[in-house]
Amino acid sequence: MTNPPVSDALVFFGISGDLAHKKIFPALYRMVKNGHLTIPVVGVASSKWTKDDLAARARDGITTFGGGIDDEDAFKKLMSMITYVDGNYNNNSTFATLKKALKGAKRPVHYLAIPPSLFGVVVAHLGDSGCAQDARVIIEKPFGRDLKSAQELNQVLHSVFPEENIFRIDHYLGKEAIQNILYFRFANSFLEPIWNRNIIRQVQITMAEDFGVEGRGKFYEEVGALRDVIQNHLLQTVALLAMEPPTGPGVDELRDAKEKVFRAMSTLNRDDIVRGQFIGYRDEDGVDPESDVETYAAVRLSIDSWRWAGVPFYVRAGKNMPETCTEVRIELHRPPQAVFSEFESMPHETNYIRFRMNPQVQTAIGARAKKPGEGFIGETIELMMTDDQCDDMTPYERLLGDAMHGENLLFAREDGVEAAWRVVDDVLVNHHKVIPYKAHTWGPNEAEALLNDADGWHDPVIE
Ligand code: NDP
Repeated sequence: MTNPPVSDALVFFGISGDLAHKKIFPALYRMVKNGHLTIPVVGVASSKWTKDDLAARARDGITTFGGGIDDEDAFKKLMSMITYVDGNYNNNSTFATLKKALKGAKRPVHYLAIPPSLFGVVVAHLGDSGCAQDARVIIEKPFGRDLKSAQELNQVLHSVFPEENIFRIDHYLGKEAIQNILYFRFANSFLEPIWNRNIIRQVQITMAEDFGVEGRGKFYEEVGALRDVIQNHLLQTVALLAMEPPTGPGVDELRDAKEKVFRAMSTLNRDDIVRGQFIGYRDEDGVDPESDVETYAAVRLSIDSWRWAGVPFYVRAGKNMPETCTEVRIELHRPPQAVFSEFESMPHETNYIRFRMNPQVQTAIGARAKKPGEGFIGETIELMMTDDQCDDMTPYERLLGDAMHGENLLFAREDGVEAAWRVVDDVLVNHHKVIPYKAHTWGPNEAEALLNDADGWHDPVIE
């Protein structure tokens, strides 16, 4: 099989925005430094920036959010590669100017780091102006607000770009920790015999942040925890954990296997979700004083497949929790028989596999070991298999690089995003009211009742 052609220009819609400042300039700088970005970049926005304004903004973003500039030559090179096109996305003339700025590039990749309400307008203009010819398009999250809007957006995109040229970003999939789960599952044969309902009793996933909405109350009011992280990042994580082994190394085999999990997931109903809101959220700027938007959500998912029937997947995400940590715990059944007298007092979760995705990338196995001394008394110990602090490549470096090379493994496919929306679609509107919780706690106590399990949620412990 031949490799897809590499893009010959990167068009960056939204170069003056917040995402560009915090994440994309740092990623582009590192890509230039590491020799991974060599094509011209055309930034498009309506801030009437000069070259100096652009350089000042890029420098500030890299310094504040990207760890600083330690290679001035790389920074200068990046700046020499960027041209800025000023114009409103609603005007044809902006796209005529863009076409000129592309200087005959044959396979540009258009990155839409812009408000989602403008995705459709920009895509249509790209088509009309001829800038979409043989081009790729990268779409930022969120991909729609519900199933219907995701379907509509897919239609708009397909009216201009074929599916293989559409790259729907979920930067979470670009993380080392997520790739670690995929690799661990399918590069080891010892896992497969235990990776099913006979051995696994439940799966818990927690994504906790110890901060609130950080001045972005207006944005958060439109989103909430379910849309912000559960429908996309955490359901993608469930799919990687639950998928069947792909039938081969190709991208489509892997995506097919993942999408089948979404199709087997139950549609959530109002009793499968507990929504919480931290006390103080309603006082944030831009937040409705009677807001019913959830800053915490816990859901109980089931996957109707031969492998997973009867195994609950509990997923929760919240703001203003005691820690910032993302962790998966796959818990195994207890031994079937009480060989030792301590059996009754043993916790259920003595055997487990734990993937920590943030702040470290860890893979660990929990087991029971005898304490030295008389009698058969044990303790739970953990075998740490990997424990890494950092990600050498940031998600945006990886994802932008992949899109330029036409590699779509780490991007969501049309059927996958729609199937994930289908899972949450009903509870986006049909739900119980939010339950208040105190900041820096693990959310409302009512979330415990979702679990069919006396041991409750496992709160990640940061040493
Ligand atoms: P901002 O509102 O900060 O930036 C929007 C960008 O679009 C600006 O460059 C703005 O240019 C440009 N723009 C908006 N309207 C027009 C128009 N009519 N004509 C020309 N340019 C226009 O948004 P963010 O950077 O925060 O978000 C961008 C995307 O990234 C969104 O889809 C968001 O969901 C996603 N995202 C953002 C994250 C973040 O941390 N910010 C995190 C993850 C995803 P100008 O100001 O010059 O008019």
